[in-house]
Amino acid sequence: MSAAPTPLANAPQRLVALRDARGRPLRDLRISVTDRCNFRCVYCMPKEVFGKDYAFLERKELLSFEEIARIARIFRDLGIEKVRLTGGEPLVRRNLEHLIAMLSSIPGLDLTLTTNGSNLTKKAAALKAAGLKRVSVSLDALDDTTFMSMNDVDFPVAKVLEGIDSAAAAGLQPIKVNMVVKRGANEHSILPMARFFRERGHILRFIEFMDVGATNGWRMDDVVSAREIVETIDREMPLEPVDPNYTGEVAERWRYRDGSGEIGVIASVTQAFCKDCTRARISTDGKLYTCLFATEGHDLRSLLRGGASDEEIEAAIRDVWCRRTDHYSEIRTSQTTVLKKIEMSYIGG
Ligand code: SAM
Repeated sequence: MSAAPTPLANAPQRLVALRDARGRPLRDLRISVTDRCNFRCVYCMPKEVFGKDYAFLERKELLSFEEIARIARIFRDLGIEKVRLTGGEPLVRRNLEHLIAMLSSIPGLDLTLTTNGSNLTKKAAALKAAGLKRVSVSLDALDDTTFMSMNDVDFPVAKVLEGIDSAAAAGLQPIKVNMVVKRGANEHSILPMARFFRERGHILRFIEFMDVGATNGWRMDDVVSAREIVETIDREMPLEPVDPNYTGEVAERWRYRDGSGEIGVIASVTQAFCKDCTRARISTDGKLYTCLFATEGHDLRSLLRGGASDEEIEAAIRDVWCRRTDHYSEIRTSQTTVLKKIEMSYIGG
């Protein structure tokens, strides 16, 4: 006697929860809206590589806003709950608020943006009006000497802080501030940053320096571990752990014992979180990547531009996700760190 079919066997494919080869669902989508940036952070887009002659993508290669919105809708139908726009620097893409308006009209999507903050003062109100919920702002130090040596374009701290204030005033809250910690560059800024943002009530998150891309000269010795960061802060401002908001939350949460707020640490190097990674990425030119450290993407743009139906594109994404086995951060060694990986500005940080 043959076994009775399970209810799922008869369900339309799109209603079956999508899981990759390691059982991980698809929940978050990061979209890089431009591979360009007005900063040249030494750990991301170093000047020596991303100089005047660097061949950034041409306009026609970029996904249009309509194409991005269509992709987002298809991903929403596949179970995505959150979309983060990133880059490069997303706010250097002209009229980004038009894209925000298109995406915020898609029901069921939590929409957010990561920015270096340089254009936030100008843009915060328009982004909020277009439907953006909140922002994460990257800032690596509070003193100009350190910050400028990291952004490498002499961009002053005060302008980013002004951008953060504008975002708060516009209601793009809660604001998260992301600080990449690189040994010898800004670890002396850990405590000043913690003190400052604790007072302001914004959530500061420390990111371990990662071996993304192939241009930032990464060495394990340059990584300040999340453990070391937590211990440094705890000695002055006692901390206690907080439960994650949801399974797969990337930042480990800690709160000040006196109730004055919380911080996060993103230990992508020393405590890999691949096993809970539910994130897909779309590069600026419409390739689907299933890991920040991937070496190859899957071309969705040619489907979009070649007349494929939503169902066909959905099937292509399903196929890629079902075969996904990535777990780079769990197997990182000195050999893997020299692999030719995709640059973060293109794949989306
Ligand atoms: N331009 C935007 C920004 O500055 O937030 C968005 C793109 S940026 C690539 C996204 C985030 O990735 C930033 O917080 C940045 O500091 C972080 N990032 C870039 N390179 C990194 C690296 N090698 N290790 C850890 N984080 C990195």
